[in-house]
Order: sequence, then C-alpha cells, then structure tokens
Amino acid sequence: MEPPSASPTFADAPATLRRRLWRTGAIVVGGSVFASMAFAQISFTQFGTIDYAGTMVFAGLIPLIVASMAFAWIASLTLRVEASRRELEHMALQDPLTGLSNRRAAMAQLETWGAQASGLALAIADIDFFKRVNDRLGHDGGDASLVHFAALLRRILPHDWLIARIGGEEFLIAAQATDFAKFSACIEALRVAVAETALITPAGPYTLTASFGLAERGDAEATGRLITRADMALYAAKQAGRNRIEKAA
Ligand code: GH3
Ligand code: MG
Ligand code: MG
Repeated sequence: MEPPSASPTFADAPATLRRRLWRTGAIVVGGSVFASMAFAQISFTQFGTIDYAGTMVFAGLIPLIVASMAFAWIASLTLRVEASRRELEHMALQDPLTGLSNRRAAMAQLETWGAQASGLALAIADIDFFKRVNDRLGHDGGDASLVHFAALLRRILPHDWLIARIGGEEFLIAAQATDFAKFSACIEALRVAVAETALITPAGPYTLTASFGLAERGDAEATGRLITRADMALYAAKQAGRNRIEKAA
C-alpha cells in the first residue's frame, strides 16, 4: 500500500471522491447562480430596474465567484480528511519498524485467501535467541536486526507472497496457490540466506538465525487451525535445536 502524500491534491484523490466533488460542486455553484438570478428576475418583474442586463450579470457573477471559492475551500478540507483517513488506514495495517504488513493486515489477507478454494502454504518464522541480540547490540541494535531480517524476507521471497511481522521477532509468510514443495524450498533458501548474511553493527558483524514452522492448508481448514499447526511446527524446530525448518503433520 502506497503511503499518502503529505499535501493532498485533487489528482491524488480516489476517482470516486473526485467524481463526487465535481458533482457536488456543480450543484452548489450552479444552484447558487440559479437562485441568485431567479431572485434578480423576480425583483426585476416586481420592482423594475433601469439596467436589466447589468443586474442579471451581477446576479450570476457574484454567486459564481463566492460559491466557487467557498466550495473550493470545502473541497480542500474534504481532500485533507480523505488523506488523513488513508494515512490512518495505512498505519493500521503496517508495522512501523519494518514497513511489512502487521498482524491485522496478515489476518485479513489470510481470511481472504482462506475463503478461496486455491491452496495455501504458511510459515511462521521466529528469530533465534533474540534476547541475546538485544543484550549484545542494545535495543536499537535489536531493532536494526529486525529491519535487516525484514529486508532479507523482502529480497528473497516472491513479491506476491504475504510477509508480515506479527509479533516482536515473529513473522508470518504465506503463499496462495503455490506448490508446497516449492514453498518449502524457498523458505529453506531464506533460512540459509539469513544465517549467511551478517548485519554490520558498530560492535562488528552479527549473524542471526531463525527457525521456521511450515503448514499446508488442508481441505476447508480454518485459518486459525492452520496457524496453530505452523506454530506447533515452529515449536518443534526450536526444540530440535533452532536454525531449522519443521513441517506440520
Ligand atoms: P527463542 O530462540 O526461543 O525464540 O528465544 P528468543 O530470545 O528469541 O525468544 P523470546 O520470545 O524469549 O524473546 C524475544 C525477545 O524479543 C524479548 C523482547 O525483549 C524482544 N523484542 C520483542 N519485540 C522487540 C522489538 O520490537 N525490538 C527489540 N529490539 N526487541 C524486541
Ligand atoms: Mg518469539
Ligand atoms: Mg525468538
């Protein structure tokens, strides 16, 4: 999702909002001009005037200018409200540290995919001994290593996969309609890349490892159940010594 621009412009606004603003603007400005000219016409027929044409020009021109300016102001406020709404929506779905999707966005995407008949492969990744990373590098260094890990996920995994940070040092990876063997091979390549790519820190190079629990969605299996199975596989990977992949039964 693209972050909204700082100063909203008409061109940036969604097409539906642009159409609504044009329509409302035409009604407000056109209505004001019509009402003013109608009033001038009535005044003229009631009381008469020495300059019919001039009166009508002013009766049309003044509301045209005033209503246009007033509506332009209302439209700019509307655009600002819309930009804020988009920014809030963006913030509600994105992890601010890594820029990945957050848990909420991940669950929504999984529910969407789960409602479709195509297959779904899921992995939960957890960085090993992350407490030690914080102890060694400090909390900021720990944060930098999370950003480094997220960058590796983005670089190595296909762009159409779901990649989300769902907890402190816990990530969710999912792919729709992907062969499970290929999915597993890709996660294995990721595991190796993580273990081989050092993060450069002021205290010297630091290499993370991560453990992964994988699960393939069974027929009509609920998303929650699929995540639980991947979580159990992750637990098995930790128990088996970490820096490894385990597949759910
Ligand atoms: P394991 O191999 O079993 O996963 O061990 P671990 O130390 O990684 O696991 P544990 O869940 O016990 O510790 C996770 C730590 O991650 C604890 C917490 O202080 C740290 N943490 C959680 N969120 C953040 C964060 O946003 N930034 C940083 N720097 N640390 C975080
Ligand atoms: Mg953890
Ligand atoms: Mg951990």
